[in-house]
Amino acid sequence: MASADMAAALLPRAPLAHSLSLGIVGAGIGGLASAVGLVSRGFRHVTVYEAAPEIGEVGAGIQVAPNFCRVLSHFGVLDRLTPQAVRLGGASVRRYVNNEELNSTSFANLEPDYGWPAFVVHRGDLHKALLDRALELGAQLKVGSHIEDVNFENGKVKVKGHPEVQHDVIIAADGIKSAIRSKMMARRGEVDETIPTGEAAYRVILQRAQMESDPDLKQLIDNPTAIRWVGPDAHIVAYPIKAHEAFNIVSTHISNTVGLTEDWTARASKEVMLKRFDGWNESLMKCLRLAPEGELVEWALRIHLPLTGWIDHKVVLLGDAAHATLPHIAQGAAQAGEDGAVLGTLLAKCHSKEDVPHALKMYERLRKPRADWAVEMARITGEALHIPDGAAQKARDEALKKASTGSQSPDRWGDKATQSKLYGLDVVKQADMEFSKL
Ligand SMILES: Cc1cc2nc3c(=O)[nH]c(=O)nc-3n(C[C@H](O)[C@H](O)[C@H](O)COP(=O)(O)OP(=O)(O)OC[C@H]3O[C@@H](n4cnc5c(N)ncnc54)[C@H](O)[C@@H]3O)c2cc1C
Repeated sequence: MASADMAAALLPRAPLAHSLSLGIVGAGIGGLASAVGLVSRGFRHVTVYEAAPEIGEVGAGIQVAPNFCRVLSHFGVLDRLTPQAVRLGGASVRRYVNNEELNSTSFANLEPDYGWPAFVVHRGDLHKALLDRALELGAQLKVGSHIEDVNFENGKVKVKGHPEVQHDVIIAADGIKSAIRSKMMARRGEVDETIPTGEAAYRVILQRAQMESDPDLKQLIDNPTAIRWVGPDAHIVAYPIKAHEAFNIVSTHISNTVGLTEDWTARASKEVMLKRFDGWNESLMKCLRLAPEGELVEWALRIHLPLTGWIDHKVVLLGDAAHATLPHIAQGAAQAGEDGAVLGTLLAKCHSKEDVPHALKMYERLRKPRADWAVEMARITGEALHIPDGAAQKARDEALKKASTGSQSPDRWGDKATQSKLYGLDVVKQADMEFSKL
């Protein structure tokens, strides 16, 4: 047996494995993580409904932090992801204009301190690894299945053009624009509103062949470091993915986001992007000039204020539907993964269907404070990274330099105390221990 399969085979099996019916709305990272979290506990009736007609490779680079590695290992997924991953040696924060290094954080301590390193992967590879694992352990995927409505009390879902199907639990992993969350909030008399952050993002992926002939760029794709160039109202993160065969560049910039959607595949103008970053350092600009014509995307970034609750009768929220975040501490997918692992662990502890509300309550109690905190850490990191040039920026740069030697960093992604809280907790172990206390 491969080590990945062994890891999952060691997970305790669920007493309700054959009797509990679980419906998952959305086959993003969150939906698939919850599917694997459930089928790896032996649940036999797990159905994932995805509105898209097919599952394709979408998105750009995504960081798999130590806490997410731990979850993916529980799932038996990490081993199949690492061949296409890059293991990060560290992170570097640099001044936009001249490439001056303001902070260098080594990740050499991550594995000794937290048990797992940090990887960067293409989102498509992560998505496929989770999907393959979910299907091989028996989850059912129904693509082209748009959920039009859910019944909170009786657990019925209405798939467009099909009769209703009843489940014991419905997991709403339908993303930041979650219609199920809107309905849940409306039932509580609340208005559902995602907040425009005024920030947008460009995504560029370069291939190795485009960078190899320039020593400066070759160094960027060869070096397993996540670089962030920080400037007024913007920063750009860049790192190699696909086992150093591709280079991922994502900007976050204050923008007039009118007309932009949160759709990760919205087309954008290369000319406008180059103008936006005119004056930034030449290594970066050389990369941006290589952006393939016609393949550039730009999308608006939104978040959601913390919800008053994630549960309504048989329906629970998970992933971006529950805690949409800015990407600045690389925890959107990681927190969704933790949600899935915890939900699977808690439902696997139920001995009868009467225990299920107790498990859902515990899921919310364990997950919500941590995920809401991670959203806030991402928000304040964005604020710190986007300070316009001037006295406050100089003070921020000094704090970044000092943080290289261990003091608190305004960049929470590289901040030791934040890392300890994020990466140090084994959420599956915690769920195992806490279940009995409720
Ligand atoms: C296309 C795409 C690309 C992304 N790329 C990146 C990236 O490059 N880097 C990064 O850090 N993060 C990326 N993200 C965000 C990151 O993946 C998420 O923050 C995180 O993984 C949590 O995802 P989620 O599963 O909760 O939500 P999502 O990834 O948004 O998934 C929600 C899923 O639900 C489906 N859905 C919605 N409504 C319904 C319905 N009524 N019925 C059935 N299905 C429905 C959607 O089609 C979608 O597949 C991307 C997200 C998307 C959707």
